[in-house]
Amino acid sequence: MQTQMLIGDALVSGTETEEQILNPRTGEVIVTLPEASLAQVETAVSAAATAFASWSRTTPAERSGYLLKIADRIEAEAETLAGLEALNCGKPGHMALGDELPAIIDCFRFFAGAVRTMHGPVAGEYLPGHTSMIRRDPIGVVASIAPWNYPLMMMAWKIAPAIGAGNTVVFKPSEQTPLTALAMAKIFADILPEGVVNVILGRGETVGSALINHPKIAMISLTGDIATGRKMLEAATRTIKRTHLELGGKAPVILFDDADIEAAVAGLRAFGYYNAGQDCTAACRIYAQSGVYEKFVAELASAVSTIGFGHEDDSKNEMGPLISPRQRDRVASFVARAREQNHIEVATGGAIPEGKGFFYAPTVIAGALQTDEIVRREVFGPVVSVTRFDEPEQAIGWANDSDYGLASSVWTKDVSKGLSVASRLQYGCTWVNTHFMLTNEMPHGGMKQSGYGKDMSSYALEDYSVVRHVMVAL
Ligand code: NAD
Repeated sequence: MQTQMLIGDALVSGTETEEQILNPRTGEVIVTLPEASLAQVETAVSAAATAFASWSRTTPAERSGYLLKIADRIEAEAETLAGLEALNCGKPGHMALGDELPAIIDCFRFFAGAVRTMHGPVAGEYLPGHTSMIRRDPIGVVASIAPWNYPLMMMAWKIAPAIGAGNTVVFKPSEQTPLTALAMAKIFADILPEGVVNVILGRGETVGSALINHPKIAMISLTGDIATGRKMLEAATRTIKRTHLELGGKAPVILFDDADIEAAVAGLRAFGYYNAGQDCTAACRIYAQSGVYEKFVAELASAVSTIGFGHEDDSKNEMGPLISPRQRDRVASFVARAREQNHIEVATGGAIPEGKGFFYAPTVIAGALQTDEIVRREVFGPVVSVTRFDEPEQAIGWANDSDYGLASSVWTKDVSKGLSVASRLQYGCTWVNTHFMLTNEMPHGGMKQSGYGKDMSSYALEDYSVVRHVMVAL
């Protein structure tokens, strides 16, 4: 296992506080890793700043070539990387390999193509005797900070567009899930010029804080919690850094009486519980219309009770544990508080299963009201609430009545109704008759307190570059 950080062209170990990296399926310690010292943070930022001078002047075709090499190498090592991700996060290995790795490889390949085909306004004479043109140039050194739910995919989403656009990066994975980032550090060291990507380890309040507050950091990119996003904004004020924030979510799902209930149940069984619900787009807040409410709750609860987890034979697992005992206890406490409400029924799940690991049973909470905590706050676990509604306006109002604005879905056989509701939802993404599906060509990002950074798609290249005007007097 590769356990060293990448600073400049050197693979080195941290020198400070040791962090235990746990296997969430068993609770056992996989490895203990020391975090970076402040001097190592400084060296990493300096290496990235030095590399920026030459990397920012490479052609799109050259950068594209590097991104393609990285994609090929990830593809060649896909089984190892998926195995590490499964070990560190508890994900079923077949899902890490079959779902996540192809999307990660495609992310690097997408940006390898996209960076060569950026387009924009035409040059021209907007003042007589002067030619104006628009350039899109890299920003500088990006501090990239990732969460623990999809460590490798978040790394791909952040690094591919950032270096594709000509920036250099200092990347910090979550202190809980550094293993695939460290494997990638070796890949970057083998392929990229010195200092283009640096990978350092450490906790948010120590290494993360030193990194985001560093004066040579030009941009901060975070996927994480809203509270952490606020810290990024505070750090950004001192030297007016750019920020790219992808924060949490509480995705509403509006299920109309005329929906294909069988398809909705199958879809929401998958999209509410994928990655044990530790997903900012998880279909966790369902509004079901009165005509189908009873049938839908019964069928969803029955389907969810069959979700496979905790099997010795990993091929039978559809869901892993939560990332940590803390996260599992947090989820359990949300359900315990919901249960105290008389109007709520726990239709299935609602318990910590016997045995090892940080598992929580997939749970359906029926009868939830718009004012309930379980409807309003991000649980980030395998818990889905269902709320009954009568009129479409009520459901649209409740769906929008949230501080979050990342993802949403509408389920109806009437396409006009689906599109018309989609146009009124204040979310970065709305799916009609599906949920959760992402593609590298399309943007992923939020509104309101879910943040404003766009990952994937050509919009990410825009986020990681700056518009400049060059004018020539003729
Ligand atoms: P978190 O905010 O606790 O941590 C995210 C990262 O920020 C970690 O690497 C952490 O070390 C770092 N960090 C924390 N405090 C910091 C500080 N003061 N300075 C610098 N860095 C700091 O989030 P998490 O618990 O790892 O992940 C779960 C959260 O992420 C959820 O709220 C979830 O919704 C959100 N999330 C959002 C998206 C999205 O695309 N919008 C995707 C995945 C996760």
